[in-house]
Amino acid sequence: MKISNKKDLKSVLEAEGFSFKKSLGQNFLIDDTVCPRMACAVSGENVGVLEIGPGAGVLTAQLSSSCKKVVSVELDTRLKPVLQETLKDCHNVKIIWNDILKLDLKTVLAEEFADCDTINVCANLPYYITSPVIMMLLESHLPINTIAVMVQKEAADRLCADVGSRAAGAVTVAVNYYAEAETLFGVPRGSFMPPPNVDSAVIKLTLRDKPPVEVTDEKLFFKIVKACFAQRRKILLNTVCNTLNIQKDVLRKALNEANISETVRGETLTMQNLADLTNALL
Ligand code: SAM
Repeated sequence: MKISNKKDLKSVLEAEGFSFKKSLGQNFLIDDTVCPRMACAVSGENVGVLEIGPGAGVLTAQLSSSCKKVVSVELDTRLKPVLQETLKDCHNVKIIWNDILKLDLKTVLAEEFADCDTINVCANLPYYITSPVIMMLLESHLPINTIAVMVQKEAADRLCADVGSRAAGAVTVAVNYYAEAETLFGVPRGSFMPPPNVDSAVIKLTLRDKPPVEVTDEKLFFKIVKACFAQRRKILLNTVCNTLNIQKDVLRKALNEANISETVRGETLTMQNLADLTNALL
């Protein structure tokens, strides 16, 4: 059965009495050109893939045929009978019924992928947890190589923007600190059932061995990043002091030391500027 086909997917879901829950971000893919391209970004002979939110299993089945093992984490247990049917021929797939944000992923990856050379992540992410999931994957120092995920088009634009550009946000800097980000391709809203109100895009994050800049205090670096983007269009010298609880003179001295203009706006700082400012404030 080809469940990337709207008619077949509908009949499987109807047979099991399944109804979509908007609150769980349940928009299932019905475009059979999308899954092969997503799988291609993370697949390989000895690759284990962690999938988040298999839904009816359309991407799961694709990953199963191109990777060594797939472990899929799904929160909605109503999908049990659906996945039993759609994945009955996929013998290298394991489903973990849990919330991705509550799992001890370090242990899961170590136990499930011990015999794989590489671990990647692939998902059509539920949109309500896009940023928390991506940041959790990046910040947890997991043994992951590549993440290929579908996100809302606006989120893709922000996550993959150049740091220092108008499209960037605090999350752009955070992603850039841990990974190289690129947009692979766009996916129109009509590729899903039910169709969401926005278009989507698949992005690829390739995790870095080490950050692109050296900072002596990561906590302070991210505090500064947050402060810079909180009032991004205002002169940094006038806004960041309060948030960081420092004197204006101290910030002025640090800006000079980091060769950054005193009239700079937070949103225009590059990764190197942000790192230099952090190090100058220590
Ligand atoms: N992969 C399927 C596809 O592409 O058709 C379904 C993707 S759908 C956008 C998101 C899936 O994530 C749903 O199956 C939903 O139940 C599941 N989900 C939502 N919140 C979750 C969570 N916190 N942990 C794990 N899965 C979750």
